[in-house]
Amino acid sequence: MYLCYVDESGTSDLPGNSSHFVLAGISIPIWNWKSCDQEIDRIKRKYDLCDSEIHIAWILRPYLEQTKIDDFVGLNYDQRRSKVEAYRKSEIFRLQRSNNPKLLKQTKKNYLKTDSYVHLAYNERRNFIIEVATAISKWRDARLFAECVDKVFFDPSKASKTIDEQAFEQLVSRFEQFLQLIGTDGSHRKGLIIHDHNQTVSKKLTDMMKRFHQTGTLWTSIDNIIETPLFVDSQLTSMVQIADVCAYALRRYLENGEEELFDLIFSRADRKDGKVVGVRHFTNLSCSCKICRSHRKSS
Ligand SMILES: [Zn+2]
Repeated sequence: MYLCYVDESGTSDLPGNSSHFVLAGISIPIWNWKSCDQEIDRIKRKYDLCDSEIHIAWILRPYLEQTKIDDFVGLNYDQRRSKVEAYRKSEIFRLQRSNNPKLLKQTKKNYLKTDSYVHLAYNERRNFIIEVATAISKWRDARLFAECVDKVFFDPSKASKTIDEQAFEQLVSRFEQFLQLIGTDGSHRKGLIIHDHNQTVSKKLTDMMKRFHQTGTLWTSIDNIIETPLFVDSQLTSMVQIADVCAYALRRYLENGEEELFDLIFSRADRKDGKVVGVRHFTNLSCSCKICRSHRKSS
């Protein structure tokens, strides 16, 4: 049996504040689950992030207050944390007096979301993510599936579905086709989708999956994926955080040309006869990004 952990990056709103919406799933066989989970835990422990969620977009932000603390990198983790916390407290007091409720609210949110990572300088946070992505790149049996929608080319008047519905249908279809293909030896490989819990989409995705079980997707019948997606809290489940890393790496490559994380993650894209079949960039036909090139490539 195979588990496929799914998460998204960017917003599916039009136009929204990102040019791309990415839905990514990373599939691993259950017999590899323990070693993968333990490996991520080991990397987290090294950076004193044992009980912290890997929420990559927050981890890789610049934390301005770190630059304002003298010799930040020369301090130990406890000292760094204490200095940042003191700075943040004074900043909150300052904003409370400044009569700017919007900025105060945003600042409080930023502080809350980054609280677990403030003992790490930017380079260390970056190294942490690269170590995680390198570990994923070496999971030989892991497969990456993703739909990366360039929203400029998504025409809601022509499409019969929303961006997130199209992405989910594509992801389910590719995971199903992967299971069908590896099960041709008669072993009937089964798969289960585990999704980051998201109040706004869980009902919709559950209904869609029920429909796929009855009538198939546009591309395939569903014979190997079982159940509707299981929704888990990404704060508590390390492996769904890995899907967040994958989705982020794909989106940042397509939006900003950032290759380092992308190359590591993309090495796990599902391929057939040398051609990438697991990851699609939904965009104009002339796109020459690595995803589009490898989609067209034959061995
Ligand atoms: Zn492309």
